[in-house]
Amino acid sequence: MAVQENIDLLPFNTFKIKANARYFTVVTSVREAKDLFKSDVFRQNKSLILGGGSNLLLTKDFDGLVIKNEIKGIDIVDENDDVITLRVGAGENWHEFVMYCVSRDLGGVENLSLIPGTVGAAPMQNIGAYGVEIKEVIHNVEAIELSTGAIHVFNRAECAFGYRESVFKQQLKDRYFISSITLTLTKRNHRFNTSYGAITDVLKEKNVRDLSVKAISDAIIFIRKSKLPDPVLIGNAGSFFKNPSVDPHVFEALKKNFPAIPSFPGENNLIKIPAGWLIEQCGWKGKTLENIGVHKHQALVLVNYGGGDGKKIQQLSRDIQASVEAKFNIKLHAEVNII
Ligand SMILES: Cc1cc2nc3c(=O)[nH]c(=O)nc-3n(C[C@H](O)[C@H](O)[C@H](O)COP(=O)(O)OP(=O)(O)OC[C@H]3O[C@@H](n4cnc5c(N)ncnc54)[C@H](O)[C@@H]3O)c2cc1C
Repeated sequence: MAVQENIDLLPFNTFKIKANARYFTVVTSVREAKDLFKSDVFRQNKSLILGGGSNLLLTKDFDGLVIKNEIKGIDIVDENDDVITLRVGAGENWHEFVMYCVSRDLGGVENLSLIPGTVGAAPMQNIGAYGVEIKEVIHNVEAIELSTGAIHVFNRAECAFGYRESVFKQQLKDRYFISSITLTLTKRNHRFNTSYGAITDVLKEKNVRDLSVKAISDAIIFIRKSKLPDPVLIGNAGSFFKNPSVDPHVFEALKKNFPAIPSFPGENNLIKIPAGWLIEQCGWKGKTLENIGVHKHQALVLVNYGGGDGKKIQQLSRDIQASVEAKFNIKLHAEVNII
């Protein structure tokens, strides 16, 4: 396991921010990870676990050890006529794993097609899209405790999944390295979720009569490509903020002042409001500030057109938060991990 020094992280984050890591290493197995956690370079430095870097905003050089997770492998743990349980290495690419499932007609993750990043980061924020969250298919998450090297297997309840949340982002933040996840997918009698309007519209447009894992995945990929900036072309980390939730009585009051305010049901009887709409109402959509800005089609996505500075993007996010709070009295919280 080689440890490199002074590595430019630009190729390792989808925001394409230039920042140096003092130390950088790649981990390809649980054994390597355990050895690393016993080493001096790990014990004497702060560390950052890196997957695909698609949910990060680097605001400065990282004066510590960046650990890039490349633990691969997909194994069948259990199988019957109806379902299959797979154990997937945390360093597998998420979308490639979804394509693995789609090509074998395994149902459950098709709505999560084209989300960038690694399998291991997916439970961190309980990735979700188009009416589905990964928590619905997760059986358990295997993680290595950084301080002891001990392996813990967290069942679904122990992961405490919520909207873009999990125990790994809250109580156990920075304490575990996720090494694999185990998920259960359907082999037949798939339960498709086409509740998001755009999916049914696209399926109709494409004349799809028989729903299938592949048809839904294709529709999702089509919608996402038409809506979201491709990080290969424009630096971004997807939705910068979470959608805020408010009490129903707060929502009623907002609706009086802003009759067009959109909403959808949130957790615990709260009402969720699309953050992108709030940001757009404050005039931010499509705004450009030198080489950074707010995407012209999706106000929830902050972008780096090239050479952008992480601190400036962070300041832009703060300005957006302040104007949304001033206009709607709603606090926006970042979904992206700011480092
Ligand atoms: C264009 C675009 C679209 C997106 N769309 C969506 C979407 O629809 N839904 C959604 O939920 N997200 C979306 N995202 C956000 C992002 O892709 C996901 O959050 C993804 O799971 C991040 O994976 P990653 O490997 O890139 O994580 P990274 O950015 O590398 O890491 C994210 C966080 O997880 C930690 N971490 C990573 N791997 C591990 C590990 N193995 N063990 C412990 N901690 C770890 C990191 O330290 C960091 O705090 C989008 C991003 C982009 C750029």
